[in-house]
Amino acid sequence: MPELQDIPARNARILATLRDSREPLPSPNAVALELMRLVERRDVGVFEVCRVAKGDPVLVGKAVRLANSALYAGLRPTAALEDAVMRIGVAALARLAVGLSLVHTHGARLGGFELEPYWRRSLARALVLQQLARRRHVLPVSEAFSLGLLAEIGQLGMLAALGAQALGETEAAEAGEDVLDWQRRRWGFDQAEASAALLQTWNFPQRLWLALLPLAQVQTQPHDAQAELAAMVGVARGLAGALDEQRRLQDLPGLCMAALRLGLDEAVLLGLLDQMRDDFADLAAVLDMQVSQQHAQEEFQRLRASLGTVAPEDPALAASVLLAGPAPCARTDLQEALRAEGLHVLVEPDLGAGFERARTCLPEAVVLDADHLPIEAVELCRQLREHDSARLYLLLLGDSLDADGLLQALRAGANDVLPGGASAEMVAAKLRPGVRVVRMISALERERALAHGRQRELAALNARLREAAYSDELTGLPNRRALDEFLARAWEHATAHGTALSCVLLDLDHFKLINDTHGHEVGDRVLRAVARTLQRHSRSDDLLARWGGEELVLACPGVPPEVAAGLAERMRAAVQGMQEGLPPVTLSAGVAQAAPSEGDAVAAMLRAADRALLQAKREGRNRIVVAAAGGEPAVAR
Ligand code: GH3
Ligand code: MG
Ligand code: MG
Repeated sequence: MPELQDIPARNARILATLRDSREPLPSPNAVALELMRLVERRDVGVFEVCRVAKGDPVLVGKAVRLANSALYAGLRPTAALEDAVMRIGVAALARLAVGLSLVHTHGARLGGFELEPYWRRSLARALVLQQLARRRHVLPVSEAFSLGLLAEIGQLGMLAALGAQALGETEAAEAGEDVLDWQRRRWGFDQAEASAALLQTWNFPQRLWLALLPLAQVQTQPHDAQAELAAMVGVARGLAGALDEQRRLQDLPGLCMAALRLGLDEAVLLGLLDQMRDDFADLAAVLDMQVSQQHAQEEFQRLRASLGTVAPEDPALAASVLLAGPAPCARTDLQEALRAEGLHVLVEPDLGAGFERARTCLPEAVVLDADHLPIEAVELCRQLREHDSARLYLLLLGDSLDADGLLQALRAGANDVLPGGASAEMVAAKLRPGVRVVRMISALERERALAHGRQRELAALNARLREAAYSDELTGLPNRRALDEFLARAWEHATAHGTALSCVLLDLDHFKLINDTHGHEVGDRVLRAVARTLQRHSRSDDLLARWGGEELVLACPGVPPEVAAGLAERMRAAVQGMQEGLPPVTLSAGVAQAAPSEGDAVAAMLRAADRALLQAKREGRNRIVVAAAGGEPAVAR
């Protein structure tokens, strides 16, 4: 993990790697870069900024429209760039100019990467960050907007410089690895770090580009403004990332954790989402972004449904909190306060046993005594977190950790640290949202497991439907659709390899009479018995199918009609000799061969077999007739 002072040097290395490639990096236009240089000077005035900005008429138009957009809702409309710049702010205008000039740099694709969804999510991220900025007052709204817009610009830098596979999304998914981990392994840095490096080189102030780095890299103090800004970026990234249907279930737990850091519950997240949905079309129009409104609205809708489904808690299931170690367990006031919150309290004064219990009882929160730990608090946090990554809220109570120890404990996975003497109400107030998020994550995981299960069920159902679509219900034989496909493939094979294709059309003799004499039910049983007998006497290369009614077809690839007639004769004899305790039955059959013809060769073969069958019937039934090739009279056997 780099120290803060090492980060600019690392940024320089990242840029060197990116610049080493053949392709140009994404780069803001000259006016935007000039504006960035200008705002570095403290004495710069609005009019000088406007003079430079007017070098880019597109920027002027967009700045004015932006000043009149939903971002500044409630203010009177303005038509002058000077008014707009005063509203937006000189520095913010410059950073916005960078973002705006990048939106239109590339076409629809970069390498194999679709840019439309990328910009859709960038706009969503910008809108969330700007909403958060309005609530938290950590930075002006337009600054937040451009920071959100460019928070993943490193992706474009890596794609441009390192090629279509630079981000490793498929590779990481196949290896079950985090994308950022994959990128760091492959390139020595990840897309978040690349974004920070690019923003630094475009003269964005350090506090803005630092906020793009993973929280752990910049957390100088757990609750300082820099960490807060990084958490805001985390929420904006999470909410925009979770719009992607494919990634939603992976990204939601991370989003919830980032939201928890800022003390935002799911109602606030839903509010942010709704605001983002309302502002999206307006801002896309202002920025001339070619993004699909319909896709965006569908994504908002789906994410809203997902966030909505995880919120309700099951009141029958009291969440459990484990107090581990002598000090928290000795505090009856704490136990009472937690019980009053409706939490189920587990008490384990012995830490070793407490650790075991955390593994077996799976509590939603663990309160650890940081002052009386046999092994270091940090190590214990790490072990607990390792065992149960996100499904645990971990709170340390104690006074013995110094600032460094505190930071390490947080990095090792503790969610918060409170002084040993913190009031019971304070501990309960910390645990309440923690437990809610843990439950949300568990609910999401259950939903994901369920979704996997549903997918498997669907696949099985599909297989059954497929089978049903290709088989005949009464006899279980392949049906006419299966036969058609089989014959089409067999004919293709025959023509390609110069081999023969024959078929036998079989029809039960006087079957109507069996129905009339013994009833339809018996007729059905006879049909099934015939099907079984014929099946037993057919070869594995051939396909026996029910053609319809009491007619069946035997498709015989690779054999001339004489051989097929031999097979038919064997079948005829077998049916005649059936001993099933059913009315006796015989069959007649017509045999034909497929030959190249002007029309459909398979259909012509079946027609020829039908004519031969008719002749067999006319000649007295219970016999096989082979259709003669080329329209010659058929030959009876
Ligand atoms: P032929 O020797 O000329 O073929 O006389 P046939 O009586 O077999 O021929 P026809 O085409 O006149 O009658 C076929 C009969 O097969 C009529 C129909 O009720 C019966 N049939 C068709 N499908 C089924 C079925 O699924 N179950 C039963 N029980 N009978 C069926
Ligand atoms: Mg018939
Ligand atoms: Mg018949």
